[in-house]
Amino acid sequence: MSTLTVAPGGLDVRPGPDARPGSAARPGSAAQPGSPAAPAQAEPRGARLRSRDELHEIALAGAAELGDAPTEEIVDWAARTFALPAVAVASSMANAVLPHVVSQRLPGVDVVFLDTGYHFDETLRTRDEVAAKLNVRIVDVRPEQSVAEQDATFGAELYRRDPGLCCRLRKVLPLERTLARYEAWFTGLRRSDSTRRSTTPVVQWDERHGLVKINPLAAWSTDRLMEYAAEHAVPVNPLLAVGYLSIGCAPCTRPVADGEDPRAGRWAGLAKTECGIHL
Ligand code: SF4
Repeated sequence: MSTLTVAPGGLDVRPGPDARPGSAARPGSAAQPGSPAAPAQAEPRGARLRSRDELHEIALAGAAELGDAPTEEIVDWAARTFALPAVAVASSMANAVLPHVVSQRLPGVDVVFLDTGYHFDETLRTRDEVAAKLNVRIVDVRPEQSVAEQDATFGAELYRRDPGLCCRLRKVLPLERTLARYEAWFTGLRRSDSTRRSTTPVVQWDERHGLVKINPLAAWSTDRLMEYAAEHAVPVNPLLAVGYLSIGCAPCTRPVADGEDPRAGRWAGLAKTECGIHL
């Protein structure tokens, strides 16, 4: 399928799996809008058809109907409830299990990737592998400013001095702009990720973004995730094999020790535990 990029105000369309293998960049050096590597922009496809109130009712009904249903039933419900252009899958590219699961019922679904400019090479290569192998449409969502522009505005390494602001600029606001186009989004949130996520429902109303949030892997363990990936030959970020059980931007991610919470390696040493997109 194809690969697209959401920059402020639009999507960039790039050749898909058949034409664009491995465009890895070092952390902090990924292609940004306006850079020579950034593709030309195109208009997003329209998708959101129902009102906020209608979507709220759908979320409540879905949560009541599904309870803690198996993953396949959750995705089936979503496929019956939403037309394809109206639903997206969020992926950090730690692995492609969620895009694979959803694309079995919704082939060609948009997979939203927050291309912050600070990703590991391995993460960008995983994204490109997903674009090449899965029946999905990768949407690269980029911030208003490149890393260099942000450095010029706020000073270098904002993530060290104010990670909350850095995440807001590079993840939270770009995602808000993007989700405004959709009626529902799938996330890979799992209850075993952390204490904060231990009560994650399979379907919920996302008040902040004003759409239905679907978490079909909520009950999955890390072992089940890896077994699924192996069984279906799903792309997995190679950093997982060296202890990065939760993968975000390179400056804010470290591997975790045995027995540590999978997300303990994110913003280690700081009180921050979430980038803000799931709060
Ligand atoms: S995870 Fe770190 S580098 Fe990435 S947006 Fe947040 S603060 Fe910035």
